Amino acid sequence: MSIKNLGIIGGGQLGSMLASAANKLNVKTIIYCDDQDAPAQKFCDEFIYAKYDNIDKIYEFAKKVDIITYEFENIPYKTLNELNKLKTVLPKPSVNRLIQHRLAEKDFINKLNIRTTRYVHIQNKEDLLTLQDFLPGILKTTTMGYDGKGQYPINNLEQIDSLNINFDKEYILEKLVKLKKEISVIITRFSNNKYEIYEPIENSHEEQILKQSKIPAEINEKLFKQSKEWAIFIAEELKYIGTLCVEFFIDRNDNLYVNEVAPRVHNSGHLTINAYNISQFENHVRAVCSLDQIPLQKISNAEMINLIGDQIIPYRENPKINDNQFFFDYLKKDIKEKRKMGHLTTLK
Ligand code: ADP
Ligand code: MG
Repeated sequence: MSIKNLGIIGGGQLGSMLASAANKLNVKTIIYCDDQDAPAQKFCDEFIYAKYDNIDKIYEFAKKVDIITYEFENIPYKTLNELNKLKTVLPKPSVNRLIQHRLAEKDFINKLNIRTTRYVHIQNKEDLLTLQDFLPGILKTTTMGYDGKGQYPINNLEQIDSLNINFDKEYILEKLVKLKKEISVIITRFSNNKYEIYEPIENSHEEQILKQSKIPAEINEKLFKQSKEWAIFIAEELKYIGTLCVEFFIDRNDNLYVNEVAPRVHNSGHLTINAYNISQFENHVRAVCSLDQIPLQKISNAEMINLIGDQIIPYRENPKINDNQFFFDYLKKDIKEKRKMGHLTTLK
């Protein structure tokens, strides 16, 4: 079946970039989002504003589309599962359910014999008090976290009361890794053993938010190879269809750890728009819509910086950019502190 109408759940910048990529491939996009001001409505063909549990709107959306995908992982499983009864959802809802839960995600990765940080499930305050061994660590909500939200760095047990942690939620406590570097590998899987993979990307964070990504990553050959092999293995084991990102830590002894998996296109892959013949967004659309798989070719080394909060203002007022630079404004309604407003990619 040729796919003409792609439904996308979520209307942020990733949704915008997916819609632009689909447009290039003559695929119409219908975006469903619970934010009335979602920036992606400016890039798609049709926009539905409704909460993710609005069953009437979910049916209306399903009727309009041939296939459904999503731009973020924090979508209720029930919503994806209901939709999947009406039209195929890719990546599969079961994959999203696994990955959106930090504990299930890490258990899955460990079962593949792939190293993660050390972690433990925390269900109440008492659980925390015996875990000296995991400190310094980071307490993370098991679900719904992103951009460092829902995370508490903990250095010592005495600190816990002053953090006002809400124990109605469940957490994992992760031992802090002494980081040398962070990298990510983006892969688009089409079907059994058919995939396109991008080279590892080196990432720097500020306040747990991605600030800069670049290729090539300055890592040794072994890490280069191992990170790609692990990403391929994870995608194959999940029988994944679409674009997936694996975030890795590298410690001071050059040990590689999987930090987390994103079942979607990823911020660190924005540079693929300009640095490759086919971006992570176009590859995602190609994979979920069963379009042709085209061999990836790198065009250039590149660096991307996120413009966060009011860092966007000077670029909006006077985008002093060179021929090798590409400025993206996500056209979000309001500038907010810590909100990703746009990015700048420089080809090197
Ligand atoms: P998010 O879902 O918000 O992306 P992450 O678990 O990826 O959450 O954490 C965000 C960032 O915080 C990481 O990219 C890393 O810089 C830092 N961080 C998180 N966990 C650890 C850890 N166990 N050790 C060292 N740094 C960490
Ligand atoms: Mg992360």
